[in-house]
Amino acid sequence: MNDLYYVLDASAFINGFEPKSQFNFTVPEITEEVKDLKSKILLNQAIEEGKIIIKEPNQEFVDELDKIISQSGDDLRLSYADKKLLALALELLNDKDTSIKVLTDDYSMQNVLRILDIPYDSIITEGIKGVYNWVKTCEGCKNEFDADYPFDDCEICGSKVFKRRIKTY
Ligand SMILES: [Zn+2]
Repeated sequence: MNDLYYVLDASAFINGFEPKSQFNFTVPEITEEVKDLKSKILLNQAIEEGKIIIKEPNQEFVDELDKIISQSGDDLRLSYADKKLLALALELLNDKDTSIKVLTDDYSMQNVLRILDIPYDSIITEGIKGVYNWVKTCEGCKNEFDADYPFDDCEICGSKVFKRRIKTY
């Protein structure tokens, strides 16, 4: 059996990806996109434990990627960090003993990954817990209530209250 290598976008860290194997890769610029303290601590810990490997892609694969995305028109929608991460995925895939999966919630990235025929998942569908919470919001005055607010109408203005998901990091 081949090892599965994960290539991680910033959204993976922000949404609480917990590395289980030793084969998790990202590029330096991605770690700089992780701003919130809790995600940063988890990320640094994973790096110290050797569970996340920070790697620069070879120029060869950066060039190859540039060629592909300039043809597909995705060039302008991707950040410098995104491009390097995709180049790293190409490089790892080029090693024939490697299976890889890219974790990203970015639609432009996912679009390019489809073109490159590289497997990917969004963090949410990967089933990582603790990402979303429910709240109830009044459609009239926009007041927010806890998920267990027991009524269908707003106690302030009487408008309808609906349930929605919010990001909790
Ligand atoms: Zn209201």
